[in-house]
Amino acid sequence: MTAPSPAPSARPARVAVVGAGVSGLLCARSLSEAGVDVVLFDKGRGPGGRLSSRRLPEPEGAEALRVDHGAVDLCAPGPALAELLREAEAAGVLGRWQPREAVRDSAGQLRPLADPPARWVGLPSMSALARHWAQGLALRQGARCVAVEHRSDGIALRFDGPLAAPEEAEGLDAVVLSAPAEQTRALLPEGSPVLAGLAAARSAPAIVLMMALPAPLDLPYDRLRATSGALRLFIRDSDKPGRGEGERWLLEAAPDWSAAHLELDPVALRGLMIAEAEAVFGQKLQPTWAEAHRWRYGRSASPPIGAPLSLWAEGVGCCGDGLGGPGIEGAAASGLDVAARVLEGLGLRPPAEGPASGAP
Ligand SMILES: Cc1cc2nc3c(=O)[nH]c(=O)nc-3n(C[C@H](O)[C@H](O)[C@H](O)COP(=O)(O)OP(=O)(O)OC[C@H]3O[C@@H](n4cnc5c(N)ncnc54)[C@H](O)[C@@H]3O)c2cc1C
Repeated sequence: MTAPSPAPSARPARVAVVGAGVSGLLCARSLSEAGVDVVLFDKGRGPGGRLSSRRLPEPEGAEALRVDHGAVDLCAPGPALAELLREAEAAGVLGRWQPREAVRDSAGQLRPLADPPARWVGLPSMSALARHWAQGLALRQGARCVAVEHRSDGIALRFDGPLAAPEEAEGLDAVVLSAPAEQTRALLPEGSPVLAGLAAARSAPAIVLMMALPAPLDLPYDRLRATSGALRLFIRDSDKPGRGEGERWLLEAAPDWSAAHLELDPVALRGLMIAEAEAVFGQKLQPTWAEAHRWRYGRSASPPIGAPLSLWAEGVGCCGDGLGGPGIEGAAASGLDVAARVLEGLGLRPPAEGPASGAP
C-alpha cells in the first residue's frame, strides 16, 4: 500500500467520510470549509448517530413529539465545541437546560445537587443539532460501508448494496472512518497501519428505555444519577426546553446490566426496565408508550492517556469518541483533529506546529 499523493491542483481533493455522527459531521464540515469535495455515507436514516431522537407514534396531524434516546445533554463544553455551540445557539438549534438534579446512592438515599452545572440541549431535540451540522453537506443515507480498498486509482469504499452514484466512492484521495472503533476495525484491510491505534478503543453497550406517561411524575428531580442498580440515569426529557406538552422520560441502564441483557428482545427489556424504574421512583408506572433501544456500542471508555485524538495513515483517517474521549466533546475533538490531519496529509495545509496529536 502506498500513501496517495496530494490531489492534483486541477481538481479539489476528494474525501469520503463514513459515519455521520458528531465526529464524522464535524470532520466533513471542516474539510468542506477547506475546499475539499466531501461525501458522507451513513448506514442510518438521518445524520447524528448517537446524537439522536426518536419520534413518538402520534395520531395523524398531532404535534410531533420526540425523546432524545442517545446523547442526553452537553455539560461544560470545552474548547473543541465552544465556537460551534455559540454558532448553533445563534441559529436557534441549541438552548440552555437547567434541570433539578439529584444523586441516588447505593442505600437509596437521594441527594439533591445544590448547584447543578449548566447544561445544553438541541432544540427542539438533540437530533436538530446534527441536522444543523449536516446542512450543506453531501450526505448519502442508508449506505452501509463494508470495506475500504486501496486501488491503483486511489482509495475506494465498498457497500452492502448499490449506490445511486458509485463514482462518489471510488478514486478517492482519502477516507475517514468515524464509526465506533469495533465497527471501524471490520472495514479495514488486514495490515492497515491504523488498526493498531484502534485496538485499545473500547465501548460498552447502553440500553435505554423511552417512555411517555399520562401525567407528570411528582418527583423532586428532572435528572437523576444513581450510583448503583440496574438503571443509572433518569432524564425527564419533556423538561428540556422546546419539547412540547406531556411527560416523557429516558432511562439508561448501567453498562454491566446492559451487557448482561443485550440480546434480550426489546419487549422483554421494556417490562424489566419499567419494573426497575418503579422501584426507584417508588410508584407504579403506566406508560402510554414505552420502547427499549439497545446501543451496542453506546458509551466509549476513556482512551489511554497520551493516545492520539484521531488516526491517520496511508490516506485513511479514523475518528470518534473511542479515540477523542467519551461524549460529544470527545467525538467533536476527534473529528476536528482528523480533518486537520487529512488536510495536512493531502498537502492542503502546512503541518501544525508543536506536537501533533500522535502517530499514526
Ligand atoms: C444512551 C446514551 C446517552 C448519552 N448521553 C450523553 C450525554 O449526555 N452527553 C454526551 O456528551 N454524550 C453522551 N453520550 C455519548 C455520545 O452520544 C457519543 O459520544 C457521540 O454521539 C459519539 O459520536 P461519534 O461520531 O463518535 O459516533 P456515532 O454517533 O456512533 O456515529 C457513528 C456513525 O457511523 C455510522 N456507521 C457505523 N458503521 C457504519 C458503516 N459500516 N457504514 C456507514 N455508516 C456507519 C452510524 O450509523 C453512526 O451514524 C451518550 C450515549 C448514549 C448511547
